Amino acid sequence: MTIKDWTIGEIAKDLHAWLPPRRGWGMANCGLLVSSRTALWIDTPYDPAFARAFLDRSRRLLPEGVAIDRVVVTHANGDHFWGAGVVPDAEIITTREAREQICFEPSPQQQHALVNGSDPETPLGRYLRRHFGVFDWSGTEPVQPHTYFTGELELSVGEYPVHISSLPPAHTAGDLFVHLPAQRTVFTGDVVFASTSGHPGDHPVHWAGPLSNVIDSVERVLATGAEIFVPGHGPVLDRAGVRRHIRYLDYLRERSHALYAAGVPAGEAARRVIAEGTFPELELPERLVVTIGTEYRHLHGAAERPGILQLMTEVATLADELEA
Ligand SMILES: [Zn+2]
Repeated sequence: MTIKDWTIGEIAKDLHAWLPPRRGWGMANCGLLVSSRTALWIDTPYDPAFARAFLDRSRRLLPEGVAIDRVVVTHANGDHFWGAGVVPDAEIITTREAREQICFEPSPQQQHALVNGSDPETPLGRYLRRHFGVFDWSGTEPVQPHTYFTGELELSVGEYPVHISSLPPAHTAGDLFVHLPAQRTVFTGDVVFASTSGHPGDHPVHWAGPLSNVIDSVERVLATGAEIFVPGHGPVLDRAGVRRHIRYLDYLRERSHALYAAGVPAGEAARRVIAEGTFPELELPERLVVTIGTEYRHLHGAAERPGILQLMTEVATLADELEA
């Protein structure tokens, strides 16, 4: 896969989606809304090389004299955010909670050191290289949001209204979704990881939870009445596709609660749910160790999330086990 395999397509009037050619960690969707006076990005690619490619493609779609003036970031994970440095004059907008979350996430350069410096003989080192080795953050400076909010934020991009809503802790502690009523479209961020029959996706990974908040968030996305949904990852969905994703989340929540009630530890619960094979088309099943672990933490009343290194070690260990 190279950057030129990424595709950008007009999904509604003056609205373009930039979709990675394959699934996997960090392969996130981005949006471009164009007007005669100004333009907006919704999320950015993961590293500067991918972000510059998106910028080049975006510029070809902009009227003369129009620049990417603003970037709405759906949450503080780097795969939606760390490319913002390629538009240094743009206003970066996110939730107050996402802004606070940034200091708990690894910085781009820390992540680069982790991926390239971890021992390749360990499950973690192998896993990080395999899934993140395509990205280069060696020269990526962290970007700080300029504008942040909790609740609702209304913007306009030329003649087009943009409604932005913050969400309770779900995928992360600071998610938002972007509703473009004129385009009947929502960019959901990572409360939706999509798959369709032609485009199988990956199991979601949810860091904050609980799953009931993720499900409520997806219901709110549907309640906008929109017809087109661009998930954080995976193919563009219609309303039926979003409802299908809610059924996945319901299943995961039900199984987690039943296994918790039966006294099954979280790691074992993830392994059992994977063995049930209810969604065989989804890849990266090892991520269930994080999502089910998150749900268990809420059931248990524990507030602290384990560190990213511990979580990724659990993911890598499980991936090795599944491969064997
Ligand atoms: Zn993501």
